[in-house]
Amino acid sequence: MKAIIIGAGIGGLTAAIAMRKAGIQADLYESKSEVRLNGAGLGLGPNAVKALELLGLGDALQRAGMPVRQVQILSQEGKVLSRMGAPDRSKNADPEQVTVLRADLLGFLVDALGAGEAIHTGKTCVDFEQGEDGVTVKFEDGSTEEADLLVGADGIRSVVRGKLFPEAKPRYSGYTCWRTVVQAGSSLRYDRELFTETWGSNGRFGIVPLSDNRIYWFACVNAPYNDPAMKRVTIADLAKRFAGYHSPISDLLELSSQDAILHHDIEYLPPIKRFGRGRVVLIGDAAHAMTPNMAQGAGQAIEDALFLAEHVSRWPNFASALEGYEKDRVSRTGTITRMSGRIGRMAQLEGRLPVALRNAVLPLVPDALMQRQLDYVYKVNLERAGMLLGRSGS
Ligand SMILES: Cc1cc2nc3c(=O)[nH]c(=O)nc-3n(C[C@H](O)[C@H](O)[C@H](O)COP(=O)(O)OP(=O)(O)OC[C@H]3O[C@@H](n4cnc5c(N)ncnc54)[C@H](O)[C@@H]3O)c2cc1C
Repeated sequence: MKAIIIGAGIGGLTAAIAMRKAGIQADLYESKSEVRLNGAGLGLGPNAVKALELLGLGDALQRAGMPVRQVQILSQEGKVLSRMGAPDRSKNADPEQVTVLRADLLGFLVDALGAGEAIHTGKTCVDFEQGEDGVTVKFEDGSTEEADLLVGADGIRSVVRGKLFPEAKPRYSGYTCWRTVVQAGSSLRYDRELFTETWGSNGRFGIVPLSDNRIYWFACVNAPYNDPAMKRVTIADLAKRFAGYHSPISDLLELSSQDAILHHDIEYLPPIKRFGRGRVVLIGDAAHAMTPNMAQGAGQAIEDALFLAEHVSRWPNFASALEGYEKDRVSRTGTITRMSGRIGRMAQLEGRLPVALRNAVLPLVPDALMQRQLDYVYKVNLERAGMLLGRSGS
């Protein structure tokens, strides 16, 4: 069986690895001239860590990643509003949360694939046609390719989704985000095992330690979509905006280089009910782009990859495989997209009174309630897919 995967991001690369392990020929087509090993940092929940381990990438992740002991939400004065311990592997079998430089993750995914002919770069998919016997994929350069299955892993503005479900369109969350990674010197005082979000009246600031003494920070503020004023914002502007916030926020901004700042309006895809039709299926942001508030977009793309490989190799026909894949993925990713949206709305509250009210209520939320939500996200049964990959994998 041959699959064509459009897009060599985290979703497409993991799908290619999983499918190959399951004995499916999987060729990747990427519009960029090379697989871009770029971006800032990423948080990977225990579910994503487990999925990568099942793909045989646990050692690579351990080398590149940094375990997180606790996730905390602070007020701008530095008062703890909420604190959640990450699962501890010494106490139970669950993997812990890990942070990783996005480029490192992409790098070891490419290495695991063995690159070479597997990734065709500079190939932009513009259309496809599917029939009884297969799919024909059309590229911008006029070439075509045939396969039994087409996987759209082409991100939030997916061309593949656009043809399958033209009514599904991304929406703006209402906030825009700057992020970068800095090298933290020994003078910077920060607990390297804490993932911190600070929710204040001038916006949200995140501090995410990475391996090798690096720190990834992000700043999210409410703004109109595609606002030219936001595009001109500099580190000095952010330093002014977050001036009253607790330490070491201003130190991190001071350590940052203007050239290395990434800026994006945060968009998401309102949950859709189907992830495919016939021989064409969506994974990752193409299927369920979510806001980054639960640090789950990449994790869900990695889960998709495992489930898709498992269903395609297990079932005798694509209709059953797609049905099984959608049963496992549509509702779960829709729920996490909605949870992430709710957290974002709470985190981005502005104005003294709403912020004061939120900050008074948040510490009163029972730990058990928070834990129930996290358990839903983190405790996914990947064993079926893992067993299959283990049987036929390397
Ligand atoms: C600010 C921010 C912070 C985030 N933080 C986290 C986090 O901490 N943890 C987490 O799990 N997730 C996080 N995410 C989400 C995560 O980055 C995405 O969910 C994930 O990268 C999606 O991967 P993907 O492979 O589905 O899509 P993408 O990464 O978008 O990859 C799509 C690929 O397809 C290619 N492509 C597009 N169109 C075509 C075409 N027509 N033909 C050929 N190729 C094409 C693109 O060039 C790209 O390489 C964050 C997102 C943002 C914006």
